[in-house]
Parts: sequence; structure tokens; C-alpha cells
Amino acid sequence: MEITRSSIDTAKGPDSWFTGDVYIDPVAAAPAPGRVQANLVHFTPGARTAWHTHPLGQTVYVTEGIGLCQKRGGPIEVIRPGDRVFFEPDEDHWHGAAPNRFMAHLALNEVDDDHPAANWGEKVTDDEYAAAPPIER
Ligand code: MN
Repeated sequence: MEITRSSIDTAKGPDSWFTGDVYIDPVAAAPAPGRVQANLVHFTPGARTAWHTHPLGQTVYVTEGIGLCQKRGGPIEVIRPGDRVFFEPDEDHWHGAAPNRFMAHLALNEVDDDHPAANWGEKVTDDEYAAAPPIER
């Protein structure tokens, strides 16, 4: 048994991966041959990932706020607390906060020596992001 106390500093999401301010807290990092990596990710309003893929797929579980996500070629979807999204292996996509709300999600990835957590692409442009449907009040 290994207890990790709440002692790990929150990390700022790197500018090459995100637009806007994003903060990452590590939740799980299993030693090999375990594969799970989990992070709690907080997005400030308007912040979002760049386009990216996950070689082994990704589950995100929204815990707070209102978010958006989109797979390449699909509509932008609004996601809310309790919603779970699975991104298929190598499915190009992005996720982030709504323009006017924070959003937090748990992000669950599997990683091994041959499969990084993510492969990062270009930023989601303001025009792409602006195609989001209005948030229902
Ligand atoms: Mn993702």
C-alpha cells in the first residue's frame, strides 16, 4: 500500500497542448505493468486542449462546470457533470471548458512503453471553438 498525501503541486498545462489556462493534478500513475494514468484537469472559461489523439483511447468524466468536446468531423458536444466521454484510440479530438464556465474532468489514460498518453496536433482555432452550440440556461 502506498499513500500519496495531497502534496503534489498543481501543474500549469503547457502552452503547446492547451489554449487558455489549464491546471493539472495527478490522480493516479500506476507503475508498469499497470498502465493507468489519471489526472484531474481544470479548464478556465474558454480554455481547451489542442487537437490530439490517444493511442490507447481516453475516458474523461466531467466533475464540475460545463464543457465542450468534438471529434474530427463531428459536431461540438456540450458535456456536464456526470457525463463520461470515451475517445477511441487514435480518434482526433479536443475537449475543454465552455466560453463562460469553468470545467473540470477526470482524464483516464493508458500508457506503456510503446503508447504515449497523447499525440498532440494543432491548436483549436477561435473559429473552430466559436462553432459550439449555445449553452442552455
Ligand atoms: Mn483527449
